[in-house]
Amino acid sequence: MTALKEIKSRCDEVGKCWFWNGALDGHGRPQKRHEGKTVYVRRLVRELADGKPVPRSLVVAAECGHKRCVSPECSVATTTRRKAQMAAKRGAYSSPAKAAKMAVMKRSQSWITDDLVDQIRVAPGPASRIAAETKVSLSHVKAIRRGDARRPIGTPFAGLGAR
Ligand SMILES: [Zn+2]
Repeated sequence: MTALKEIKSRCDEVGKCWFWNGALDGHGRPQKRHEGKTVYVRRLVRELADGKPVPRSLVVAAECGHKRCVSPECSVATTTRRKAQMAAKRGAYSSPAKAAKMAVMKRSQSWITDDLVDQIRVAPGPASRIAAETKVSLSHVKAIRRGDARRPIGTPFAGLGAR
């Protein structure tokens, strides 16, 4: 059985949606073990369907708006900004102003490289000093250190030059 078929067999098919019945992360996003790593199922399905990795700079969103849907017919590789706009259109945020603010915040933090994120994570000393030294906002430094922001997400192609 192919990986894609195996995933589909663990979903409820409703129309073009595949509702995942397996594990979820703390935010309700479908997760599974794949080749020794924990990966997001929707991203994995997108990569298996396309036969190529999704760039790490992109997120894989479900256009149908269902968190548990991992269907390749619903998912699209997009930027966090576009994803916020899609969500805003569906009314996932309380107001367009809040969605716009979130998109701006995400974009303003996007210059932070993965290397810098690693440094922030391991640097000794208080978050306020790290923020001053790195010019990353204090709240974002704290979020990174808590693991709420920029959590490393494995892809099935990591280590194959896909970084
Ligand atoms: Zn769907």
